[in-house]
Amino acid sequence: MSDNDAAAVTADADACVGSGNCVIVAPAVFGLDDDGAVAVLRDRVSAAERAAAVAAAAGCPAAAIIVEG
Ligand code: SF4
Repeated sequence: MSDNDAAAVTADADACVGSGNCVIVAPAVFGLDDDGAVAVLRDRVSAAERAAAVAAAAGCPAAAIIVEG
């Protein structure tokens, strides 16, 4: 596994309530689409990005973010 492949990130746009927390915490990994729902920009992330993605998952009010690996 390379450093750029430390974890897999998924997000449930249907569960997302559009708070934008994840975009603030991990802007390299998450964005918002035209409907204001989460969009995963990078579904395979480095170790550093993983840490940010995990923090975003912990802070998501809808528990819509999953980080595996
Ligand atoms: S933190 Fe959760 S609810 Fe807020 S925009 Fe991101 S995925 Fe959606």
